[in-house]
Amino acid sequence: MSEYLENQLENRFNLFKLWNHSSPKPDFLKTHSSSIKAVVGNTKIGADANMIDSLPNLEIVASYSVGLDKIDLGKCKEKGIKVTNTPDVLTDDVADLGIGLALAVSRKMCVCDRFVRSGNWINGDFALASKFSGKSVGIVGLGRIGSALAKRAEAFNCSISYHSRSKKPNTNYKYYSNIVDLAADCQILFVACALTEETHHIINRKVIDALGPKGILINIGRGAHVDEPELVSALLEGRLGGAGLDVYENEPNVPEQLFSLENIVLVPHVGSDTEETSKAMADLVISNLEAHFKCKPLLTPVL
Ligand code: NAP
Repeated sequence: MSEYLENQLENRFNLFKLWNHSSPKPDFLKTHSSSIKAVVGNTKIGADANMIDSLPNLEIVASYSVGLDKIDLGKCKEKGIKVTNTPDVLTDDVADLGIGLALAVSRKMCVCDRFVRSGNWINGDFALASKFSGKSVGIVGLGRIGSALAKRAEAFNCSISYHSRSKKPNTNYKYYSNIVDLAADCQILFVACALTEETHHIINRKVIDALGPKGILINIGRGAHVDEPELVSALLEGRLGGAGLDVYENEPNVPEQLFSLENIVLVPHVGSDTEETSKAMADLVISNLEAHFKCKPLLTPVL
């Protein structure tokens, strides 16, 4: 949890840091469950059915994230519990990182960096990389982040196509109702959709093989969008050209087979982790909670 958010919460509310109570959790719940009216979660821990059931007076779940995959939305709806998240304020950062990963993979920036630091430049020039500008880009999920990625990629003269459940009316980007067709027709595939039961492993062997040995996969959505063992074997076998990953199926564990590969760039789920954005996200969490307890409209309601 962000230190700034913890401080802001502590200044305004009676704050229980659940992670300090992990072993004696049942005792903690026995003593405090009826006094807890709000839960603040993040990308790792939200509010599952068990937690919701154990807090009889829960009124609101305010997530310090835009993704809702760690919150049982059905249960919240059933019980009339409000839910908020932090959309928009993090969009630029996540899209910036997505483009940064695409550039880093295609231009081999991390390998270049290691080459210079190792002193190997003296022995000869670095090998040629692959151009990013002008590539055909596919985006899975043309929402806030997907659209911000598209806008950035357009500035690099990339052609843009996308896949989502429905065609968007206000764009000329090419729509694919079938993700395998999208993967077959693009050179760089960005994953930016919401994680749901439908999009779990949406990047499977078929999609990876359609993207092919020259294709690059960039995942700035959630780790579980990608069938990770399939991704690892495709990269090891050269069936996929490269990958840039911010998110993983079993964070913070990352498949070790990936560590020796030079055609991938790995970052530790830092899509929105800038000082500016983490403060904006925390302020939004606080504003939503304050609005709720003052009986005012929520700023970014999900439910
Ligand atoms: P958003 O505006 O709600 O966009 C989500 C998109 O997912 C929508 O355009 C939706 O399009 C698409 N989608 C939903 N179900 C789909 C399906 N079955 N198949 C294909 N597309 C589907 O959300 P956002 O603000 O752009 O954020 C997107 C996701 O990024 C979040 O849910 C979160 O998991 C992830 N994220 C990651 C980081 C990070 O640090 N790496 C940071 C922030 C967010 P349709 O409704 O038309 O299908």
